[in-house]
Amino acid sequence: MFKKLLNQAIVNFELVTQSPLYIKQNTSLLDPTAFDGTYISCYLDEKRIPIIPGTSMKGVFRSFFEKLLGDEACNILDTRQESNKCLKKIKEFEKKLKSDNNKNWESNEFDKELEKLKSFSSGKRNYYLSCPACKVFGSQRLKSRMIFDDAKAKEGFKISSRSSTPIDRISGAAKEKGLNTFEYVDWGVFEGKITLVSFFNWQLKLLLEIFEAIDEGILTFGGYSSKGFGRMKVQNVKIKIRYYGEMKDKAKDGYTQNPLFAEKVFEHKEIEKKLQSINFLDKNQWEKVELENEQIL
Ligand SMILES: [Zn+2]
Repeated sequence: MFKKLLNQAIVNFELVTQSPLYIKQNTSLLDPTAFDGTYISCYLDEKRIPIIPGTSMKGVFRSFFEKLLGDEACNILDTRQESNKCLKKIKEFEKKLKSDNNKNWESNEFDKELEKLKSFSSGKRNYYLSCPACKVFGSQRLKSRMIFDDAKAKEGFKISSRSSTPIDRISGAAKEKGLNTFEYVDWGVFEGKITLVSFFNWQLKLLLEIFEAIDEGILTFGGYSSKGFGRMKVQNVKIKIRYYGEMKDKAKDGYTQNPLFAEKVFEHKEIEKKLQSINFLDKNQWEKVELENEQIL
């Protein structure tokens, strides 16, 4: 998916419910990126298995990062080309690059940046010009570097339901017409997997910060979070780091080597320690476009 795969972080983890998890039935009508309205779905196989869809998790994570970024983030839901900040910026540069390709550059900031971008591939240029949220989670012009699998509940989960009368008491104003049973996951452990592709260290650090926010109850899943629903804990985090190509040979001690890549599995705490000095809100980190020096793990 990326022209040149240089590294990969495969993050396996479990999400354990700390409070009931509200199950929304009609998932297609919901916006998966909504902060409070994120959904948990249930597959009807032989048995019902609660799933936190990868797209839903991605939406929750992205919203959280965008909130931290404030004005630094574009509004991804705003797809009108003229008002999406990242798209506008990319188009502006493309236009300028096309129009005066061989002219002398002026010395203003825009042109200085433009000069630098001339040597970039279009993929790298789009990446450079995008806001930090788009850099991690992607946009119309940029592939996501963080890929989410659906998190499926392990055996032993418990689904409960309540009749419509208690719904009104619990949800207050959030009544839904035609919904007369209120279902939730009483208890469950969800197995999740997130893969970071061609990642910068600050992006992995961001993921660890998000895990922490989940543990602290800042980030919740499913509906009715204002009523205390959807609190989770992250556990059993295992991070498999792989370095490919030219980065492969620079892998440090403890890595196993094969013809394609060097690989090592880290525990949560180990990675946290290694990334201690990285600030995921540092502009200098965001500006980096070359992965070659991103090998501190
Ligand atoms: Zn953006």
